[in-house]
Parts: sequence; structure tokens; C-alpha cells
Amino acid sequence: MIKGRNFIDGQWREAASLLPTINPSDLDETVGEYAVSSVADAEEALAAARRALPGWRSYNTQARADLLRKVGDALYARAEEIGTLLSREEGKTLKEGIGEATRAAQVFHFYAGEVVRHPGQWYPSLRDGHNVIISYEPVGVISAITPWNFPIAIPAWKVAAALAYGNTVVLKPSEFTPGCAIILAEMLEQAGLPKGAFNLVLGDGRALGQTLIDGADAVSFTGATPTGRKILQMAAPTMTKVQLELGGKNPFIVLDDADLDVAVAAAAQGTWGQTGQRCTGSERIIVTKGIHDAFVEKLVKAVAGLKVGHALDADTDIGPVANKPQFDKNMTFIEKAKSDGAELAAGGVAVEARTRGYFLAPTLFLNTHNEMALNREEVFGPVAGVIKVEDFDEAIAVAKDCELALSSGIATTNLKHAERYRRESNAGLVMVNTPTAGVDYHVPFGGRAPSGYGGREQGTASAEFFTEIKTAYINHGVL
Ligand code: NAD
Repeated sequence: MIKGRNFIDGQWREAASLLPTINPSDLDETVGEYAVSSVADAEEALAAARRALPGWRSYNTQARADLLRKVGDALYARAEEIGTLLSREEGKTLKEGIGEATRAAQVFHFYAGEVVRHPGQWYPSLRDGHNVIISYEPVGVISAITPWNFPIAIPAWKVAAALAYGNTVVLKPSEFTPGCAIILAEMLEQAGLPKGAFNLVLGDGRALGQTLIDGADAVSFTGATPTGRKILQMAAPTMTKVQLELGGKNPFIVLDDADLDVAVAAAAQGTWGQTGQRCTGSERIIVTKGIHDAFVEKLVKAVAGLKVGHALDADTDIGPVANKPQFDKNMTFIEKAKSDGAELAAGGVAVEARTRGYFLAPTLFLNTHNEMALNREEVFGPVAGVIKVEDFDEAIAVAKDCELALSSGIATTNLKHAERYRRESNAGLVMVNTPTAGVDYHVPFGGRAPSGYGGREQGTASAEFFTEIKTAYINHGVL
């Protein structure tokens, strides 16, 4: 069992109390016991990050790149171990867990390169004898607050980017899945990061939020939209820079001209992959009337073939729901959809497995419409509704008739339709003939408000948030 301590100013520290995590595949197994940090712990971590800032921002460039590369190497080397821990604590299948750990390794390698690749700019000035130099400086101390659904990838893409651009960090991972963040802290320590440049505080964000905002120069948050709104409000008095990656209610459109197999595969993966617990997962499947019956018949067959079970079992396609609050939330949506008149075509019930866990059959509702709660609020589980529409125009209107705008997808073999959708979609991500979830590490990731706020993550786009622009004039004519 993991004993989770805080990592502050280069030291592992006990906290006054501990909080256990339970394996969602096996409720009889405690995975770890983790520090519940106090406000004083968070303040110490922020103070350590502030002290470390001058040293880290002027750290030798090659040495900084080497250090991040070493962490990437360690993540690759331990991907199976991390993936297994992740599956035990979060519930995604072992394949998904190892995939996520590998992604974290790739992210560190990418940002190792970004340390030396990130450019500035030079302009000729309109004033004789002057140059203008644009440089991108670290923002300062970053508080990174992360959710339970990607316990290694999301901490990795915040921490690696923040450090690469010369910031110091306090990471507060989800209280449901902190295990992987502890391994990440160990790796940063072993790679030789100067003390205080990275700090880990564990526990419930509600108790630490204001401190983590007030003591930082910027907060990078990933989580639910209501939490994001609170953070934005809490940051207003200090004007702390805020980046929010929030919820999705992502539409996947299937047009009459779609390749049926491609459409079914993309819809099934997008909806039920990782137990539907991806912010970019498909939750609204919008289907034009000509293909509707054939598509639905095939999709129902596909979902029936998915095996729900213990995350570490080799034949499991879909692991458990990650925790009890999320399981209960899914069931509430299912009951509401039924009472609103949606037709249950698959799932909708808890499933028995060899162990006691939060197993939920992948769920599909038919004959839903966009006014139902099922189609308006983020479920964040293996639950989706099919909405039948007349034509492409109505499909686009329904897709956009939603407050959230993170990802969106379409299945079509018509290039004109694909291009029109790419242009007209209001989402931050548009996926054509491929699932709504799943973006490479080197391209911008994120949605439009209220699914996202304050600059994209990943790739070189993350420099926008993790750096501050300085415009400098140099009058060399005086020389
Ligand atoms: P959550 O908002 O409940 O918690 C996220 C983190 O915020 C946790 O570490 C939590 O302790 C902390 N927190 C909670 N209240 C806080 C407060 N008042 N101040 C500061 N921190 C606080 O979200 P969750 O349930 O862990 O994650 C699921 C949500 O995350 C879903 O809505 C999902 O769509 C979203 N998500 C978004 C993305 C994205 O990139 N857009 C990626 C993954 C998950």
C-alpha cells in the first residue's frame, strides 16, 4: 500500500492526517493512504517554489532540458508499473493505464526539446538606431490543480511545460488518484531538480484552493466547469493568471454519407473508451435520418460486445467507474433519462464482476432530444444519447445548441461536409471520421468557454500561458 506524503522544498513530509484511496475494481482493496494537507502545508510549498524561482529561471538551458528528458526516460522505463497503479486507483484498463503513462513520458520529452526550441523575436524599430526584442519570460510560481481521470498525463503536461519555460510549481493532484503524482515527484527528485522547484501537496482542493491561488503567479486548473468558475472568481481580487480546462458535452455527428463501420467504431471508442471518463468523450450522438436505423443497429451490437470488468483483467474492455460520487451521478442521469422518455437500448444497470466494484454497463439511449438533461449537462460516464435529425443543417444546429464547447466530431465521406463542419463548429477540437477524444501531445488542446479559459495546453501553444511577453527597445545608436 502506498504511503503518500507531501514533497515540499526537496523533502518528503508527513501531514497531520491521511485519506485512503480505494480500488474501484475491488472495493475491498485500499490502494494508498495520502496526506491531507493543511493551508500551512500549501503555504510552505508556495514559499519554497518562490525561493527556488530565481535559480530555476536562470538554470543552465542544456541542464534543464537534460533534466526533463531524464524524467521522460524514467516514465518510459516505469510505464507498466505506473499504468498498473493508475488502473488500480482510477480504474482504467491496464492497456489504457500504460498508454497514459507512456503519453506522460512523451510529454516530458517534448518539453525537454521545447526548453531549447522556444524562440523569441526581433523586430527592426521605426526609430533609427533601435532594435526591438520580444522575449518570453517565466510567469513565476505555478499552482497546478488536476482531476482524477488522467492522474499522470495531466500532471505531466502541466508540470513539464511549466518547468520547461522556467517556472516553479506546486502540484495538487486529485484526492481520488494521487498515487501517480507521488511517482512523478520521486522522478523529478531523482533527476536532480533543485529543491523547491517542484512541490507536491496532497488533499482536497476545496480546503486549499484560495491559498493555491493567492500564493501563485498563475493557476493551471483542469476539472469540472463549476469548480473552474469558482477558481476564476477566487482569482479575481489578486488577478492571478488563470488557465482552466473544463468539462465537455461533446457531439458526434453521423451523416447519411458516412462510412458505417468508421462511424460506429469512432462513436463507440469516443463514447465508452476509458469508461466514458474523458472530458473529450462523445456524449451526444447526432444522426441524420437516412442512416439512423442502420447506424443504431450496428452501434447497439458493438456495445453489447464490450466486456466490463476488473481493470487489470486481460479481457476487460471497460473498467469500472472511478469512484462512488461519479457512479451515483451516472445512475442519476440514467434514471432521469428514463423518466424523460428516452428509450434505453443498452446498459443502464450495474454489472457484477469477480470483485465488488463500481461496474456500470456501457449505456446508450435512443429517441433522445437536446432538451433532455442527458443531453445538456456533462455526465462524464459511459452514457450517451442518440438524437435523430432531419439533415446536416439540423445536425449542426443541435451540436452547437449547448453551453459547453470542448470537442466535436463528424462521420462523413463528403469533403465539403467535413470542411463545412470544421469551419462552423464552435468547439476547440474538431475530429473528422475519428473519435472526439484523443489529441496528440504536440498540438494545442482545449475548448472554448465555458469548456476552457485562458490559453491552450500542450505543444508549443502552452507557452502562451506559461510565459509572459516582454517587449524591449535597445538604442544601439548610442554605441
Ligand atoms: P473537480 O473539479 O471536482 O476537481 C478537480 C481538482 O480540483 C481536484 O484536484 C480537486 O481537489 C480540486 N478542487 C475542487 N474544488 C476546488 C476549489 N474550490 N479550489 C481549488 N481546487 C479545487 O473535477 P474532477 O471530478 O476531479 O474531474 C472531472 C472533471 O474534469 C470533468 O468535468 C471533466 O470534464 C474535467 N476534465 C477536463 C479536462 C480538460 O482538459 N478540459 C480534462 C480532464 C477532466
